[in-house]
Amino acid sequence: MTCMMIDGKAIALRIREDIAARVEALKAKGVTPGLAVILVGNDPASEIYVRNKGNGCAEVGMYSRTINMPEETTQEQLEAAIEELNSDSAIHGILVQLPLPKHLDENAALAKILPEKDVDGFHLINAGHMLTGTEGVVACTPRGALHMIKSTGVNLSGKEAVVIGRSNIVGKPMALLMLRENATVTVCHSKTQNLKEICKSADILIAAVGKPRMINSEYVKEGAVVIDVGIHRDENNKMCGDVDFDDVKDHVSKITPVPGGVGPMTIAMLMNNCVEAIENR
Ligand code: NDP
Repeated sequence: MTCMMIDGKAIALRIREDIAARVEALKAKGVTPGLAVILVGNDPASEIYVRNKGNGCAEVGMYSRTINMPEETTQEQLEAAIEELNSDSAIHGILVQLPLPKHLDENAALAKILPEKDVDGFHLINAGHMLTGTEGVVACTPRGALHMIKSTGVNLSGKEAVVIGRSNIVGKPMALLMLRENATVTVCHSKTQNLKEICKSADILIAAVGKPRMINSEYVKEGAVVIDVGIHRDENNKMCGDVDFDDVKDHVSKITPVPGGVGPMTIAMLMNNCVEAIENR
């Protein structure tokens, strides 16, 4: 089967060009979109993600600020930093880089972000909007993944969609977004029985399981569309996803690579959410 690669890098580039034009228009009105990222501790992967987000903002003409806080930051100090950004008129989007060190309460911290500045879409208000399908900030990774599916011309209506993973930041919002598009959605997790059989029924398979190359050709239906959300480094320090790309690619009609798939889309959607936060005011 001829497989089409869904090029996240190229799609994200087009989105970034559109964002850059919107940023210019906002600047002409005297507003420079500003994103603040709070990074607690020194997790190397998080440091890279935060740097990429800052670089992404600079490329489209946005202002970005990174607030580096030490590992031993207390809940009170973290929440005080969020409150300060809530009332900072130069900042339109606030992101707390996850995971936080174990002693900090992630949910309590996220709840402190003003919902209209919550560009990650993790605040309970925005999660509620996602559930009810009303206006609100949509989480970046699922939004990016959905954009990629739609960019191929695939219509989700009436299709069997399977999501492997039920996290609040990827699996659940991804399932809700596809439900909105009228797909018939199944969500799988670590207690799911017959995972392979369920995955094999999917017209659209979303892998957000967090296990390097777990999803091989035994999990996919011939001709399926496969979106690989996972990001890992294998034993040779090579980047890979949750899907065994080489094993799967000859069986599917469309697939996202890692790197160059969902990752660049997440960052593009983050900046998009930040600019939208101003446009929607
Ligand atoms: P989590 O670890 O929070 O969730 C993983 C999910 O997979 C859980 O629901 C878990 O089930 C389920 N799971 C684990 N093992 C199995 C198994 N053997 N069979 C079936 N289900 C299983 O991960 P995230 O949702 O945060 O992230 C998923 C992946 O996406 C990771 O690789 C992460 O690095 C990547 N990621 C990529 C992003 C990007 O921009 N491309 C952004 C965010 C994440 P249970 O709930 O039962 O434990």
